[in-house]
Amino acid sequence: MKIVLLGPPGSGKGTQASMLSEKYGLPHISMGDLLREEVKNNTDIGKKMKEIMNAGKLVPDELTVGILKQRLSKGDSSKGVVLDGFPRNTRQAEMLNEKFDAAILLELDDRIAIERMSKRRQCRDCGKIYSEGRKKCGACGGELYQRDDDKPAAMEKRLEIYHTETKPLIDYYKKKKILKTIDAMRAVDVVFSDIQKALG
Ligand code: AMP
Repeated sequence: MKIVLLGPPGSGKGTQASMLSEKYGLPHISMGDLLREEVKNNTDIGKKMKEIMNAGKLVPDELTVGILKQRLSKGDSSKGVVLDGFPRNTRQAEMLNEKFDAAILLELDDRIAIERMSKRRQCRDCGKIYSEGRKKCGACGGELYQRDDDKPAAMEKRLEIYHTETKPLIDYYKKKKILKTIDAMRAVDVVFSDIQKALG
């Protein structure tokens, strides 16, 4: 089963993708994590990407599609995949040109998205996501930090980009008859249970 997760920042794409990955035994590929890996390598492209990401903007399509194709070529996703954070516009969807079985849209109010982003903390080592309140990662003991793009100016830019660039994908997947809309305002487990029902 090939699944993409759509939704504004803070809607729980990463959390739900990782739960789906565990439940169905599929690799979870997070575009944001792949890009943060590139940034860690501190190459010239990595430095440029860091600037773009910290400003809450989208990294150029050619770069994201190239990095994702390389990841997909590893072969572990031949039976299926849970893709989180890609595509973020219809051009990326067309450039990847991959047939998906379901596009899960996690719907969330902007106000709640901002509240969740400002509380989000991520593990520096394994990437696991938490809400503020703890200091160490429960999975690997790594240090938790607040991403620069979860700070106010970048947060607003990311939401604006979601509305202008990513939302057209809702119609794109509706036309392909694979869109499943889920109310993501509720608790993580309730959302997860609804996603499973929607996937049948
Ligand atoms: P995320 O971890 O999904 O919230 O992504 C963090 C940041 O990485 C985004 O704000 C963008 O700057 C960049 N990014 C992630 N996915 C994409 C994508 N598909 N296209 C362009 N930029 C992306």
